[in-house]
Amino acid sequence: MHTFEFIRPADSATAVATAAKAKTAQQGADIRFLGGGTTLIDLMKLNVETPERLLDINRLPLDKIEATADGGLRIGATARNSDLAHHPTVQRDYSVLSQAILAGASAQLRNMATTAGNLLQRTRCMYFRDTAMPCNKREPGTGCPAITGANRTLAILGTSEQCIATNPSDMCIAMAALEATIHILGSKGTRAIPFADFHLLPGSTPQRETVLEPGDLITHVTLPPPIAGSKQVYLKLRDRASYEFALASAAIVITVSGGKVTRARVALGGVGTKPWRATEAESALVGKTADAANFRKAAEAALRDAKPQSENGFKIELAKRCLTHALQMAVTS
Ligand SMILES: Cc1cc2nc3c(=O)[nH]c(=O)nc-3n(C[C@H](O)[C@H](O)[C@H](O)COP(=O)(O)OP(=O)(O)OC[C@H]3O[C@@H](n4cnc5c(N)ncnc54)[C@H](O)[C@@H]3O)c2cc1C
Ligand code: SF4
Repeated sequence: MHTFEFIRPADSATAVATAAKAKTAQQGADIRFLGGGTTLIDLMKLNVETPERLLDINRLPLDKIEATADGGLRIGATARNSDLAHHPTVQRDYSVLSQAILAGASAQLRNMATTAGNLLQRTRCMYFRDTAMPCNKREPGTGCPAITGANRTLAILGTSEQCIATNPSDMCIAMAALEATIHILGSKGTRAIPFADFHLLPGSTPQRETVLEPGDLITHVTLPPPIAGSKQVYLKLRDRASYEFALASAAIVITVSGGKVTRARVALGGVGTKPWRATEAESALVGKTADAANFRKAAEAALRDAKPQSENGFKIELAKRCLTHALQMAVTS
């Protein structure tokens, strides 16, 4: 691993001012914030990330999980994934988030991993993690060997000719369905980004994964007040029962009244280049009878634009079945 300077900024403003000197907040950033380090340190050991300065934000007061005045929830950027998943309010009112976090990684990793770090975890595409290989995300313009190579685990939604990497997060899929908001302190002040607008599609700039600019520190995430009477499910399908990333997953927040769906929020994991909000499925569900036939129609709508690669065509049917089954689980829970 290359050498770097390790800094503990005294406060958030100092952290932002220091990080604002970075050339980019994206791939290749020369200054990085350090959360739990479970993504960043891994990538530094592989020389995929080579920051010159690490700003350890773990001692900043950013770890609280507390109610907001409007009845929602405020989740600090350095709140650990374990603390968030086991928080009584999350388990009671936002259970899809608890389920999603607990479906990811391992207990040890969740004890280290932070909310902001999870939002920004990088793809597991094997070529991205191997500096001997070309990769447009790691080194723009070098090519995408995954398109003709090992792509079984990669994306079928939101891909481009430049990159087909999957966003690997479980937590993010639940946050997409819960319509979270991401709060940022940057060199020009604070701003709030709706979850759906935070991650970017790869397009022709796969090295740019989010809207973050140099200096931008995620301070917290907010969740809107819980939806009364909603049923919530996170279903994750993977090659083995634990310690494995999703091949397909679904986060559901659904309300049913008199046998009909009155509100639905649906997001898919393991299949998109960003956490995938399935608005087509939501539109297909609302006003319809909550039954298996309509759930299947919603799943067909969600995957209509899927583009399979040479090895991952199976994900289309897998994701449809995952979504259909998750909806069934939700309404019968
Ligand atoms: C073996 C293994 C298995 C895993 N399995 C899964 C799984 O099944 N499902 C899943 O979802 N995840 C899985 N993960 C990923 C894990 O969830 C992430 O590594 C973790 O959430 C990252 O959080 P962190 O705090 O450690 O991030 P860090 O590594 O500290 O940071 C990640 C990125 O976020 C940036 N950052 C951190 N905090 C801030 C902030 N406040 N503002 C701006 N930028 C910030 C850092 O600069 C860095 O670029 C796995 C990881 C490993 C190693
Ligand atoms: S899919 Fe994306 S991350 Fe993977 S090799 Fe292609 S450009 Fe790189």
